[in-house]
Amino acid sequence: MEHPVHECVGRLRSKNFKAKKLLKIMEFKSILDQPHKRPIIIAGPCSAESEEQVLATAHGLKDMNVDYFRAGIWKPRTRPGNFEGSGRPGLKWLKRVKEETGLKVTTEVANANHVFEAIKHGIDALWIGARTSVNPFAVQEIADALAGVDIPVMIKNPINPDLSLWMGAIERIYKAGIERIAVIHRGFSYHGDSKYRNIPHWQIPIELKRKFPTIEIICDNSHICGERSMLQEVAQIAMDLNFDGLMTEVHPNPDEAWSDAKQQIKPDTFNDLVNNLVYRDPSTDDVEFLETIEQLRNQIDDVDNELLNLLSKRMKLAESIGKYKKRNNIAILQTDRWNEILEKTQAVGKLKGLSPEFIRTFLRAVHQESINHQEDIMNEVEEPKAR
Ligand code: PEP
Ligand code: MN
Repeated sequence: MEHPVHECVGRLRSKNFKAKKLLKIMEFKSILDQPHKRPIIIAGPCSAESEEQVLATAHGLKDMNVDYFRAGIWKPRTRPGNFEGSGRPGLKWLKRVKEETGLKVTTEVANANHVFEAIKHGIDALWIGARTSVNPFAVQEIADALAGVDIPVMIKNPINPDLSLWMGAIERIYKAGIERIAVIHRGFSYHGDSKYRNIPHWQIPIELKRKFPTIEIICDNSHICGERSMLQEVAQIAMDLNFDGLMTEVHPNPDEAWSDAKQQIKPDTFNDLVNNLVYRDPSTDDVEFLETIEQLRNQIDDVDNELLNLLSKRMKLAESIGKYKKRNNIAILQTDRWNEILEKTQAVGKLKGLSPEFIRTFLRAVHQESINHQEDIMNEVEEPKAR
């Protein structure tokens, strides 16, 4: 007889196999009942603090084409001792929002109990926060609680810049039978200095969209920025990148908010922000536009080719250097030379309109590739000479 653990492992294996097949055919549906051309708008306070605060915000937003009113009921705070949410009573306030304003409501869930309570109280959509999507056990618990339920779920990126973890959370929820899934890009934690509270790393959501072309992407400009002054700019970048919507924290009295006070804005300010956004079409059939863009793209392709030729030439030179160093038994890394290249190139790059940040990222990649080529040369096993 097969050992129960083996049986279990066998079952898990076949499940994993299915998950792989699923990945190819994952098709998502809109989180809106009736998808529209303008961006999806989600707005509301960081936390539901009191019935008055929740209703005041909702009434301030009700005439603004808001698709979902957001409010955190259970708040995952980085450090204890801060306001951790109103809990269950807050769900009744959201019910009143629905009754009084007709707005749909959404809240964050972090475990199975939150899912049950939210559904029981008629919450229209759920979201999974960044501190939860980072944890596959927690996401699986939520997925199991959602099995057989038809409700839109939005999945925030995990706090660390790990695309696979984000995709894993989406796959777990999808496998529970949820098809109305969107993702929320709220930026990523970091150590050091940045103008952002959470660095956007736009290439990560862009790559996610390439892997899951039918998924809607919402930009949470509030948690990316961490303060009000950049909210408009970040929302516009998201629109220019063809994101599907926006989630912004709105509070009737932002400075007095019990959580995330610096990044919240008043309903009227939010209205201005949305009205000031420039929306661009994803594509066009206009012949003149298509011809012009094709010509420019051809030129870009030529330049890319030249770049590749130059990079290949540079690597050949690195290989010659590798051979010479090997003959003289000299180490690959020469820090003084590397510092010199970094400094010189950043200065020249600046004159040519290239940011030091870009130059550093680019040069580091080139330097690493050059080291790899030299490594291959240095450690090449020489064929023994024929006698
Ligand atoms: C929130 O939306 O209020 C929140 C806690 O966000 P995040 O999970 O992105 O930190
Ligand atoms: Mn918040």
